[in-house]
Amino acid sequence: MIENNFNKLGLSAPLVQVLAKLGINEPTEIQSKTIPSALAGRDVMASAETGSGKTAAFLLPIIERLQQPGRLRALVLAPTRELAIQIEANAKNYSRQARLRSVVAVGGESLTKQIKALKSGVDILIATPGRLNDLIERGAVSLKTVETLVLDEADRMLDMGFLPQVRQIVRHVATQRQTLLLTATLSRGVEQLAREMMTDAVRIEAARSTSTVATLTQKAFQVLAHAKLPLLLALLKQHDEGSFVVFTQTRRSADRLSQALTANKHEVVTLHSDRSQSQRNRALTSFRNGRARVLVATDVAARGIDVDDIAFVVNYEVPPTADDYIHRVGRTARAGRNGSALTLVSPDEEFLLAAIERATGVRLERSKVAGFSDGRSEEQIKLASEIARLRSSSSRPSASRSSRSSRYSRVSR
Ligand code: AMP
Repeated sequence: MIENNFNKLGLSAPLVQVLAKLGINEPTEIQSKTIPSALAGRDVMASAETGSGKTAAFLLPIIERLQQPGRLRALVLAPTRELAIQIEANAKNYSRQARLRSVVAVGGESLTKQIKALKSGVDILIATPGRLNDLIERGAVSLKTVETLVLDEADRMLDMGFLPQVRQIVRHVATQRQTLLLTATLSRGVEQLAREMMTDAVRIEAARSTSTVATLTQKAFQVLAHAKLPLLLALLKQHDEGSFVVFTQTRRSADRLSQALTANKHEVVTLHSDRSQSQRNRALTSFRNGRARVLVATDVAARGIDVDDIAFVVNYEVPPTADDYIHRVGRTARAGRNGSALTLVSPDEEFLLAAIERATGVRLERSKVAGFSDGRSEEQIKLASEIARLRSSSSRPSASRSSRSSRYSRVSR
């Protein structure tokens, strides 16, 4: 029998063995803190990011409690299709021994197939809110027997405007249930959701990866906007091994950047919300199996990318909020591996980066790349940044994060 710290958390031998076969031998912080309470049937609200092992933190106690195939007893809601698909892949892996049946129901994929899969029996359903409501309305699924409800990436779910859909779904689930809520950030909206959906929840916080992951290197390159492409090409050349995820702010700039990189003979795939589900799946497969070394993505589309060995995350444009920054850089340095987050910052983006540094408490080391910087003095850069900040704040109604009303929010992601 395998003995490790998963036994000590209360998981039974067969499940610990399944984990060992997958190379998962030591619980992560969020797993150590969540699993015992979730096994005891408590409601849990955990702040944890992608990359912390949060998926297993909620799936393992569910699988342990279900034991055998029966009827639909666990429902996991996730904000994006990619994340839902990823959770289901994990659920399949972890529940192999127990032979539990999991089904993923997301938009953009065949409804008929999902209805058929639901009919043939399901223990764990993983869904995005829109598609699940559709299935409920069609009478294809009943949630009456659900015992555990998981709200994964609850903060994103709220940001993406899913609250009415989530409420609609929860009305179909019995009030006598266990609810597990996972969130990367704690906002007033998330607190409110927790109060609404949970009873006497155990609150768990895992350390934030930006300030604690020792394997993550974070750097900023000061560069003129028009010199970002040559700088990125130079970085790709300099680090000719290892995969890159490059974030842009808009779909248009993602497409433009992908074209430019392709023209420079790089194997590139693009992920944004304009692409069909099959295009997105194909892009992710190419990136996962190494055929494409570079993935260009926007924030929303990149949620749920679960690729373990991403060496570099590049912020081609500085994200508008610290939360976006945290989510982006969390794609690298996962599960104890090394990774670098490189932020290309033009003078008029300095104020955004300064706000991120204040929020995360991490000061990024700045490099001026030879031949790329504009030769302006610190004072001149500060002034340009201040002007950009004033321009941006005069065009937005409020500075709050939840309103997401920075200059970027009017463009589609
Ligand atoms: P997540 O935070 O759920 O997106 O998980 C991040 C990655 O860590 C996934 O690829 C998991 O397979 C992996 N993982 C989860 N738990 C562990 C663990 N205890 N030890 C090693 N890897 C893990």
